[in-house]
Amino acid sequence: MILTFKVKHNTDLSHELQLAHKVANFALKTGSRSSKDVKHIGLKSMIANQILRKYSKDTKLKKVRKVVLSIPNQGIHVDKQNQKINIPCLKLGLNYQFRNDFKKINQIEINKDYAFISVTVDELSTRKVDGYIGVDRNTTGHIAVVGNPTTGKVLKLGKSAEHIHKKYKNIRKNLQKKGKYGLVKKIKHRESNIIRSLNHRISRKIVDTADENNTGIKLEDLKQIRRHVKSRRGFRYSLNSWSYYQLEQMIKYKAKLLGIPVAYVDPAYTSQNCSRCGHLGNRNEKKFECPGCGHVDHADSNASFNIALRQVKDGRLCVDRDAYKGSTDTPQTAMMGTTLTVEPHGL
Ligand SMILES: [Zn+2]
Repeated sequence: MILTFKVKHNTDLSHELQLAHKVANFALKTGSRSSKDVKHIGLKSMIANQILRKYSKDTKLKKVRKVVLSIPNQGIHVDKQNQKINIPCLKLGLNYQFRNDFKKINQIEINKDYAFISVTVDELSTRKVDGYIGVDRNTTGHIAVVGNPTTGKVLKLGKSAEHIHKKYKNIRKNLQKKGKYGLVKKIKHRESNIIRSLNHRISRKIVDTADENNTGIKLEDLKQIRRHVKSRRGFRYSLNSWSYYQLEQMIKYKAKLLGIPVAYVDPAYTSQNCSRCGHLGNRNEKKFECPGCGHVDHADSNASFNIALRQVKDGRLCVDRDAYKGSTDTPQTAMMGTTLTVEPHGL
């Protein structure tokens, strides 16, 4: 499994980045793949080669925008004991705090502020678990509600999301009225950064909970939820949005690293059925009542228990393996799914 870590490099590389930009433009124009052709530009040939390889074959791209300095494995020295990475061709030293059990560094991509370090780590084989916890991401006010039917415990995570979303929506609205469209974009970016780190913490908590209880994790099938959207309830901040998908990806790769199975269930009636007897119950906002057995519960807790107890669809455990492969593409792409901001306790 490939993971990408982001480390601030605190070095002025603007000159090298300018040279890289020139090389990229040259490659795009001429289709050349020989570093001899760009020797006059003055970029180190190891980096120039990487850029030539990338841009010379790109027929769709019209204009080169942001170029990164891409360093292949052979240009990187690692000192694991002192957690230092050295890139001689840039005279650049990096200290890292992320997990030290990686097998090798595949490559490092560097922009103005950050180095994106892509490493290969061993993944554990899927473990045998005692039951599942259910994650409800379509709740009445949280990013996720997690239920463990074995212990009866419920975790409600990410309550602030609704507040954050409303706050930034208001700010954007006001800026739009004043015609400050540049700022609108900036504010949107700030909100997604906050949600991203929230999703990191929530997925960490969910995977740790599964780890501590030796359970797997069950999620509702995203595509199915979209079909059922009209029958669903209340506040649906994350529904149909990137953050919903982002949380799912984060849960999946963090679980995968620990060998915790992730499974999908059909989302139909997870909020309407009683988790004790299966009877169709009555929902009154956040309250769930079952006329069959008299069970009363918070609606989100009931739904999360239903998800945990529901049969897995056609044995669908951990689909789309590609999602774990990580990205060796540009940092922009990597940031969509697999780039991990270094957390204080590593992964
Ligand atoms: Zn019941």
